[in-house]
Amino acid sequence: MHNAYAPSNRIMTKVMRRITPLRNRRDIRFTLDRPLVSFTYDDCPLSAVSHGLKPMEREGWRGTVYVASKLFGITNHHGLHMSADDAVAVARNGHEIGGHSFSHIDGNLTPIDEFMADVARNQNVLTDLGIANCSTFAYPFGEVTPALKTALSRQFIGLRGITPKAMTGRADLNQIASYPVFQGQDTTRAIAAIKASAERPAWITLFMHEVSHSPSKWGCTPPEMQAVIKAVKDVNARVLPVADAITFLKGGSDAQH
Ligand SMILES: [Zn+2]
Repeated sequence: MHNAYAPSNRIMTKVMRRITPLRNRRDIRFTLDRPLVSFTYDDCPLSAVSHGLKPMEREGWRGTVYVASKLFGITNHHGLHMSADDAVAVARNGHEIGGHSFSHIDGNLTPIDEFMADVARNQNVLTDLGIANCSTFAYPFGEVTPALKTALSRQFIGLRGITPKAMTGRADLNQIASYPVFQGQDTTRAIAAIKASAERPAWITLFMHEVSHSPSKWGCTPPEMQAVIKAVKDVNARVLPVADAITFLKGGSDAQH
């Protein structure tokens, strides 16, 4: 039995989770004429390829898969994970492959040097597979420190966190907000945010794990995924992988000056 890892609940860690979003930011400002949505898949379970990426492809959309390559082919509470071959196929289908560290380590508990070595190890595995250098990264467990934001910002154009927020007018590229698409209430909240963006166009990123008929509490069902896709279509959102969204937003902000 593979148990789910729970990030630290120490008081200092909790305090830092409130402070870190305010520190070592890399803000961009933008104006959107319609909503912008980025779908992101963490780890990534194979079910997310068949029930998440494939339905997106049918809409002509592409997503971002945050790969921790030590998880290739393993089975845990999210189910079976994609293999190295699956990752190559996903990249060939035009999806973005982003970094997520090799070992899926906790950025709050790991010394920076060790963390960065693990990030490099993940990139080496992906490079050996012929996958392009990752240009964005998602913090495993969403755990991050101000120093880690700065260290990773030298290597990646965007760093995705797990704070659920619609980004209107401004985003911190060192801790990009993201709504969980986890079964039940979280998915309902993500859909509500997407619907609200029709009135107030925002950049919304979504993150998910397995998309299966019996998901863990960190996964969603195929009908929930379909409901999210429908909401995105209903608000006529532009859908882009995270790296492309950042390029788009920067172009937009440059155009204003
Ligand atoms: Zn993860």
